[in-house]
Amino acid sequence: MTRPGEHVVSYNSEPFDIISSRPLKRNLEAMQRYDIAIVGAGPGGLACAIKARQLGLRYVLLEKGGRVFQGIIDSYPRGKKVYPTIPRSESGPFPIPELEPSADNEPVEEYIAKIEACVQKLGIEIRFNEDFQDLVKEKGGFQVVTRTGRYAARNVVLAFGSNIPIDLGVYGEAKTVARKLDNTEEHIGAPTLVLGGGNAAADVVSTLSKAKRAAGDSTPIYWGHRKEQFKVNKEVARDLGEEILLGGNIKILVGAVPKIGEVDEEGVERLIIHTRNIHIGKGVELQQGMSFPMKHVIACIGTQGPAPVFERLGLQQITCTEGICRIGKEGARLILLTAACQTTTRGVYTIGGAISPVHIVVQDEGSFRETKHSNLIFTAVRDGVTAVEDIARRLAEEKET
Ligand SMILES: Cc1cc2nc3c(=O)[nH]c(=O)nc-3n(C[C@H](O)[C@H](O)[C@H](O)COP(=O)(O)OP(=O)(O)OC[C@H]3O[C@@H](n4cnc5c(N)ncnc54)[C@H](O)[C@@H]3O)c2cc1C
Repeated sequence: MTRPGEHVVSYNSEPFDIISSRPLKRNLEAMQRYDIAIVGAGPGGLACAIKARQLGLRYVLLEKGGRVFQGIIDSYPRGKKVYPTIPRSESGPFPIPELEPSADNEPVEEYIAKIEACVQKLGIEIRFNEDFQDLVKEKGGFQVVTRTGRYAARNVVLAFGSNIPIDLGVYGEAKTVARKLDNTEEHIGAPTLVLGGGNAAADVVSTLSKAKRAAGDSTPIYWGHRKEQFKVNKEVARDLGEEILLGGNIKILVGAVPKIGEVDEEGVERLIIHTRNIHIGKGVELQQGMSFPMKHVIACIGTQGPAPVFERLGLQQITCTEGICRIGKEGARLILLTAACQTTTRGVYTIGGAISPVHIVVQDEGSFRETKHSNLIFTAVRDGVTAVEDIARRLAEEKET
């Protein structure tokens, strides 16, 4: 309950007095004004903070979770190996060596422990449980609004990843499905369906297969993908191949399309997938499918970029249309950025997973280039360093004028 004289904060507005409804006058000079507010303490956001510290810039790093790299903690299966992959089109080394996963592909728990030690050693301050809500433009910068506070900053880097899960797109009442492997033990002794054709799904399949083998469990893991081809990188494929050769019971289902989420007579939530259509003539099809208890389904079908958030913040995007975009899918909204990841709103940058897998680079002469952006730790770190160097350069130029 708000009492007279207390503030409430609204989107896109100054705090206002609940009684008079007039904006409260703030003495901004008295508020700490940061050179950079960084939203998200993943690899991209942490790289920004480390670089800002190296360059002597005042920064605030805001993270909605309770730990550094919360996004990775939430999305990687337990024990997953972390690869220091560098995209083929780029050359290393990692711009911030402390953030590089080890060459022997350490498990995620070890990588996180190393990152926490690095945060401690470098004295990087992180404000946890700060859930970013909005950006308010004001003279000389922005106010970054979180659920619980406001931060004044001259520049903002949005490093919140791409964590909006893609919908499974099934009919029916049962729709809640796991997005990652929380606990391998829950799947021991039961066939499990893993959906998705990329690295995340492949990782879950090999991690789960290893756990089942270790427990002497021969129940299968069905790996289903709606397309005919799976797309995984070399290291992930190697792990998966090893798992199969070592006796992992992995059954591949291509053309497997999730169709219905239903609750059966016993009250069990189930997912029905179509696995095959056989045309038997005159428009009649014989359809084959499988039904799994929802609790043994893991859908690693990816996340969509934060286009709706960018839209709400008024950051310019363009919509892909057929014949114009070669990489982006038709209908996808692609954010417009400079080569240093600055959006068309001066002072607002966005980096890492948030701008993957593709965005538009506005070149100096004003032309647009659709640019592929691999969603990797390396790329996020590289973007963070590039953005902060650009901010430092602009701040120095502003000082001179
Ligand atoms: C299963 C899986 C396996 C992968 N394996 C590898 C690998 O082996 N090697 C590799 O290089 N890459 C791998 N990747 C990709 C890699 O993890 C990402 O490219 C990288 O984490 C992107 O970094 P980021 O900082 O942009 O975003 P994230 O890591 O997603 O970090 C974003 C941070 O922002 C926080 N946040 C989100 N919303 C808000 C908000 N509203 N307010 C405040 N904070 C917010 C999140 O909690 C999170 O901590 C994998 C990805 C997945 C899903």
